[in-house]
Amino acid sequence: MSKSVAVPPTSVSRAGPKVGLVSLGCPKALVDSERILTQLKAEGYDISPDYAGADVVVVNTCGFLDSARAESLEAIGEALNENGKVIVTGCLGATPDLILEQYPSVLAVTGPHRYEQVMSAVHQVVPPRHDPFVDLVPAAGVKLTPRHYAYLKISEGCNHRCSFCIIPHLRGDLVSRPIDEVLREAENLVNGGVRELLVISQDTSAYGVDLRHKGAEWRGRERRAHMTDLAGALGELGAWVRLHYVYPYPHVDDVIPLMAEGKVLPYLDIPFQHASPTVLKAMRRPGNQEKVLQRLAAWRRDVPDIAIRSTFIVGFPGETEEDFSLLLDWLKEAQLDRVGCFRYEAVDGAPANDLPGAVPEEVKEERWNRFMAVQQEISMAKLDAKVGRTLEVIVDEIDPEDGAICRSHADAPEIDGNVIVEEPTRRLRPGEIVRVTVDEAGEYDLFGHLADQN
Ligand code: SF4
Repeated sequence: MSKSVAVPPTSVSRAGPKVGLVSLGCPKALVDSERILTQLKAEGYDISPDYAGADVVVVNTCGFLDSARAESLEAIGEALNENGKVIVTGCLGATPDLILEQYPSVLAVTGPHRYEQVMSAVHQVVPPRHDPFVDLVPAAGVKLTPRHYAYLKISEGCNHRCSFCIIPHLRGDLVSRPIDEVLREAENLVNGGVRELLVISQDTSAYGVDLRHKGAEWRGRERRAHMTDLAGALGELGAWVRLHYVYPYPHVDDVIPLMAEGKVLPYLDIPFQHASPTVLKAMRRPGNQEKVLQRLAAWRRDVPDIAIRSTFIVGFPGETEEDFSLLLDWLKEAQLDRVGCFRYEAVDGAPANDLPGAVPEEVKEERWNRFMAVQQEISMAKLDAKVGRTLEVIVDEIDPEDGAICRSHADAPEIDGNVIVEEPTRRLRPGEIVRVTVDEAGEYDLFGHLADQN
C-alpha cells in the first residue's frame, strides 16, 4: 500500500481555490485520485502540495485489509489535525459510520469512484472560480504516475466471491467501461506522451461480461468489449501494453498470440492464490492447477519469453501441511517469474473468517519463509539466465548515484524489479526505450550496459 500527497505540475501563476489530496491504496485507487485531480484542474482549482496551503483536503482511502483501514483512519486524523476541512472518499468511504464515529467533524464521506460526489462536496466548501483560460487540462489528464506510464482502469467491481475478499462488497459487481471510452482514454494518454499502459481492474479477463461484450466502432472497425479485442486494439497504439489482475479463465489463452505478435507485452499478472484443490475450494476459486501447469507450458511454447507474475496466500484457514507441500511442489513445477506471497490475514466482513481450522501465526510465518525460500531460488535462476542477453527496456528515472533505473517487459512498475544501467554512455531520458545488455543479476534487479546499437 502506498501513500502519496499529490503535487501535479501547475501551469497557472495566479492563485485559485486550493485543494489538497492524500492518495492511499492500490493502483486502482490511484486512478480514482487521478480522475479527481483531472476534474479539479478542469474546474480551475489549484492543487496544494501541503495541508497548510489547502482550503480543503480530500483523503482517498483504502479499505482492503485491516492494516490498510488503520492507515486510512490515521491519514484522516492527520488531515483533520493539520487542516481541519476534510472530505473522505475511496474504499473506506463505503463504511461512513466507521469514519464518522471516530471523526464526526469530517465534512463529507463518499464511497469509491464517486467522483461527482467528491466534486460537489468540494464545491460546497470552496466554490470553483471559472476562468476559461486556466480551466483547461491536457487531454491526457493530470497523472500522479510518471508521465511515461499510466494506469488504464477498464472496469470496477467483481462478479467473483473469493471467500477472503470483501472487494465485491465494497465495490459491487463488475461494471465495465464501454470499449470506445476506454480506447479514447488510452489514445489520449499515448498522444500525451504515455509509452506504457497498465491495464487494471479487479478482474481484467471478465471485461465486458456485464455489457454482454457490446461493441463500438474505433478507428473504423467494430471492437467488442472483451479482453481480447481490447488488448488487440490497445496494441495498435504503439505503446507497451501490460495486463494486470487477470483471472485464469480459459479465454486468457487468446491473448497469447497478441504477445507472440508483439502487440501486448509478454507479461501476465495472474493471482493463483494457492495450488491445493481443497484450499482453492475453500477460497471459492477455480481448482484445477494441474491444468494450469499445462497451460503455462503451452504459453511458454508460443511465447518463450513470457513473464508470469502471481500472488499466493499461505496460512489460509484449514490449510494443512499436506496442502502447503502441494503448493511448494506446484511452485517448483510452475517456475513463475515474479511472485508475491501474503500470510493470510482475516479481513473484517470476509466469509473466510468463519471457516474452521485457523492456522497459528507461527505456522503461517514458518510457511511463508519456506515459500519465499523456494520462490527466491526460482526467481534468481530466472534472472541469472538473462545475463548476457540484450533486452529492450524503458527508462523510468535517472538517479544521480545509481544511474538509469529501467524496466524490461518482465517488470511492472512498483511491484517487480529493475534493470539498472549504472554508467550510461549517453544521456537517457525517462520514457525512452533502449536496449541493454545484461552483465549481472542481483536478487531482484539486473545490471547492464547500453547495447551498441542505441
Ligand atoms: S477475483 Fe479478486 S476482487 Fe474478485 S472477489 Fe476474488 S480476490 Fe476479490
